[in-house]
Amino acid sequence: MGSEAWKLENCLRNCGAERKSHKSARAGRGQQPKWEIPIKINDSTRQGRIELKAGATVAVIGGGPAGAFFAIHLLRMARELKKDLKVIIFERRRSTGFHTAPCLAEVWKGCNYCAGGISPRLNDVLKGLGLKLPEEIIQSRIHSISIQGSWKIIELEVPAGREMLTVYRGSRPARRFDRYHNFDSFLLEEARKAGADVINDEVVDVQYAESGKPLVHCRVGEAETRLEADLAVFAAGVNERAGIPVDRSRILQSLQRLIPGFVPPRLRRAMIIELEAKPSVPGNLAGRIHFVEYGSKTVRLEMCSLVPKRGFVTAVLVGASVDAAANPAERQEVMRRFLELPHVRKLVSPGTQFSPTCVCSPNMVVGSARNPFGAYGRRGSK
Ligand SMILES: Cc1cc2nc3c(=O)[nH]c(=O)nc-3n(C[C@H](O)[C@H](O)[C@H](O)COP(=O)(O)OP(=O)(O)OC[C@H]3O[C@@H](n4cnc5c(N)ncnc54)[C@H](O)[C@@H]3O)c2cc1C
Repeated sequence: MGSEAWKLENCLRNCGAERKSHKSARAGRGQQPKWEIPIKINDSTRQGRIELKAGATVAVIGGGPAGAFFAIHLLRMARELKKDLKVIIFERRRSTGFHTAPCLAEVWKGCNYCAGGISPRLNDVLKGLGLKLPEEIIQSRIHSISIQGSWKIIELEVPAGREMLTVYRGSRPARRFDRYHNFDSFLLEEARKAGADVINDEVVDVQYAESGKPLVHCRVGEAETRLEADLAVFAAGVNERAGIPVDRSRILQSLQRLIPGFVPPRLRRAMIIELEAKPSVPGNLAGRIHFVEYGSKTVRLEMCSLVPKRGFVTAVLVGASVDAAANPAERQEVMRRFLELPHVRKLVSPGTQFSPTCVCSPNMVVGSARNPFGAYGRRGSK
């Protein structure tokens, strides 16, 4: 059994989960004080609150920013209330602490489908939580944003006293010399420090158990393990695979089965291109994020951004030409034409060479999910 599976075994055993034969995780907990998370549930016949007794198990599916922030908040709140909670984050790919690259063989390699801009607001949230991003994770400090509309360029300075940063959220592009430093591993490590257990395995389904509680099925190598939780939190994002349609995403399908009124958020295809800048990121792009609001008659774009990193620039494109690109060859063509647009070329000094090192086309959330809360699989069973 691999070390991750061993970790899971121990962790799940402590929470009352079993391999194959399933028993209620409530067994043997005794009478303990309870506390409540007020949750709006779109069903007047059900309670509008989920009660979490001390010692309750919370399963968080996905260890991206949503899962990590949720776990940090919940565990801090629980500590303030002097309540004991077991929080388990299931993350299929990323491990904690990898931003410090302790063991290169184990480092998760992959992309998180993001431009990696940390807005002043998000930066304030991090500061508010007492989370200081290590310098090696910060790719660039942004002093201004330039918005290139079809008739005007608007320059916005980052207000004095506020900070805007750029980061990578995973280990791509592979040619980065500092590819093991990434934002998501840092946050996940902070969740672990706050008391969460992080299990590096994939959740394959979530159903309601006989008791009516959520039963999380996850894969540990060849074996499948189940955990009955008191609360399951879905934070697996919308890119089970980059650009996967909602009706083919196993996790979103599970969620729709569990909460029949749940409507996933509206999605749109985006394109991300990592551009290596040689000999370096040009002065006009260093410390500045550019938004370009148009393409041309043949490259139909609605919004593009150029986000500077160390030695790279991350370009994100959204528009009808991206929607229409059906395969990697067509995406490469959109990228090539984008880089040749006169107003894009103007941003790059003549001596700079941009080489695209990776291109992907993930889903981007462009609306809100509806009815994302549910309680108990069988009415009346608690
Ligand atoms: C093109 C693009 C550019 C963007 N640029 C920015 C930006 O500059 N700044 C910004 O703030 N936001 C940006 N965003 C938005 C940002 O990426 C999302 O808001 C953010 O990633 C959402 O975080 P999340 O934790 O919900 O999901 P994700 O980041 O997708 O994390 C989900 C996690 O769950 C894991 N997971 C998935 N399925 C399973 C499973 N079955 N079992 C276990 N683990 C699983 C995944 O490995 C992943 O780590 C951008 C988005 C796109 C598409």
